[in-house]
Amino acid sequence: MITYSASAGRVWTADAVRRIEAENRRSADTHLFAVPLPPGWQVSVYLKDESTHRTGSLKHRLARSLFLFGLVNGWITEGTTIVEASSGSTAVSEAYFAQLLGLPFIAVMPRTTSSEKIALIQQYGGTCFFVDDAGQVYAEAERIARETGGHYLDQFTYAERATDWRGNNNIAESIFGQLALEEHPIPEWIVVGAGTGGTSATIGRYLRYNCHSTRLAVVDPENSAFFPAWADPSAPATGRASRIEGIGRPRQEPSFVPGVIDAMIQVPDSASVAAARHLKRLTGLHAGPSTGTNLWGVWQLAAALRAEGRAGSIVSLMCDSGDRYAGSYEDDAWLRGRGLDPEPFEAVLEEFFATGRWPG
Ligand SMILES: *Cc1c(COP(=O)(O)O)cnc(C)c1O
Repeated sequence: MITYSASAGRVWTADAVRRIEAENRRSADTHLFAVPLPPGWQVSVYLKDESTHRTGSLKHRLARSLFLFGLVNGWITEGTTIVEASSGSTAVSEAYFAQLLGLPFIAVMPRTTSSEKIALIQQYGGTCFFVDDAGQVYAEAERIARETGGHYLDQFTYAERATDWRGNNNIAESIFGQLALEEHPIPEWIVVGAGTGGTSATIGRYLRYNCHSTRLAVVDPENSAFFPAWADPSAPATGRASRIEGIGRPRQEPSFVPGVIDAMIQVPDSASVAAARHLKRLTGLHAGPSTGTNLWGVWQLAAALRAEGRAGSIVSLMCDSGDRYAGSYEDDAWLRGRGLDPEPFEAVLEEFFATGRWPG
């Protein structure tokens, strides 16, 4: 006897997959910019500009992967309410894909989420639900999904497995393809931050699978649980809410894969702000604070290469644009109110660029 599944819906699912793949095909790859450095440094630095995705951040890739994963697993079908726990950027990208598929979308977010991000979620037809404490987002998202019969995308669990780490045009494959004609096409380092940990997991696995010598460095804001968890896997690590949007978490998220990381660099929040400002002065590129965290790590690794007299390239990401933070990190009064002072760190970068050596 054959028992058939009640949940047919394959025609709708096939059309939904096609719509997401079509959106991907209409989209161009993101640029890999070469950052101009003082002559004679023998170190090249590249930034992959993830701010140019339709929804403004690297979370466009994650949202696409999570929707496809939900569709091919049969978790998302016609009319499914999509729910997510997010501090903002992921929900913006997911609201866009939910709208593309004609599905209702509910974002569960801390009340402190920036008004710019809330407006974007609503623009894509999403609904925002607020909690007072950032740690409550997971349980609330689960509850809302249960009560609506919806699907909780759960980026913090599924980010590391929803993207194919072998290739399939993931971010690592794209970086290596774009570097092919450069002087140092196999980078010494790739530097990224961790929010879900999905980007670092994809890149780290890709490096090992392709037998590249490139090492993966993860930068982590002060107070985040990732660095202590990586440094001592036997001690259960907790942290506090991050002040650098998109990266650093109060708990070690399940999608964070410590084993693929070759080095971690803890970055003071004020240094992240300083490095984003410095990038704008150096190149005119206007990036958000998590890009500054990346760059603080990049410049220290560049200094180390120079100190060892080695030539090579370093690649990092421009995760989103500074336009999203006009009312926060770009506002001196806002920074002072949070005890953030980028100036001493900007002086460190000025000295590094003047002398080629890391001060102190
Ligand atoms: C999510 C995010 C990151 C980190 O990416 P993960 O793949 O989630 O670790 C970095 N910067 C910004 C702005 C982000 O939104």
